[in-house]
Amino acid sequence: MNGSADPLLAVDSVHAGYGETTVLHDLSLSVDEGEIVSLVGRNGAGKTTTLRTIMGILEPTSGRVVYRGDDVSGLDATRTAARGIALVPEERRIFPELTVKENLELADHGGAPEADSLSVGEALEMFENLRERAGNAGSSLSGGEQQMLAIARALVGGADLVLLDEPTEGLAPYIVQDVMDIVERLNDRGITVLLVEQNVHVCLELADRNYVINQGEIVYEGTSAELEADDEVLDRYLGVTA
Ligand code: ATP
Repeated sequence: MNGSADPLLAVDSVHAGYGETTVLHDLSLSVDEGEIVSLVGRNGAGKTTTLRTIMGILEPTSGRVVYRGDDVSGLDATRTAARGIALVPEERRIFPELTVKENLELADHGGAPEADSLSVGEALEMFENLRERAGNAGSSLSGGEQQMLAIARALVGGADLVLLDEPTEGLAPYIVQDVMDIVERLNDRGITVLLVEQNVHVCLELADRNYVINQGEIVYEGTSAELEADDEVLDRYLGVTA
């Protein structure tokens, strides 16, 4: 990407938390258009809190979230979504009683003007597993299929930045690979991805750049090649021994 261009998303010196508890301490990160960027850290490090703050579910107590040059820190989640940011939460939030196709149709509400949103038909084309199950109830899907449906909904909803919260959590290894393939395919379509993971191997395979978060602070930033070679960071913050 053009290094001199403004980032698509900038989280700028954010403090945020719950009530009196500050979870994020002076957190800054940026994502350029077209990148896959990971935010990787242990359980409880503040990854979900970061995504909630970007999405507008939480408001920063100080600092800013800037998207396409606009300060979006004060916007609620609905308005943030209308700008083209979609959060795919860890719980996936599929409607179990609706079919796969109906779940997608519910997401079809226009999206951001800049976004190249998928029609329901295009989403079913792109996600082969979902096409085969278009008429099945959401409740009948496996964990990996639910993850794909949650991602497909973000694309139908017109997202151009997708925030993925631990998409591989709880999935069997061969399904993890399928989900990683999907993330790469959506990135090939021009969708920018901020990926939150505990699994550093997923990050190293997918991400252009990685931020390591520990106790609500960014403690490292580097390309996947740099992080992979940094035994100290891997050991100290991610519990991966060389
Ligand atoms: P996980 O892998 O468990 O999702 P995470 O890195 O996403 O971890 P967060 O969920 O952001 O971490 O949690 C960061 C800290 O904020 C934790 O100490 C957690 O206990 C606390 N926390 C999370 N949600 C709430 C909440 N609703 N109210 C109060 N504290 C919370």
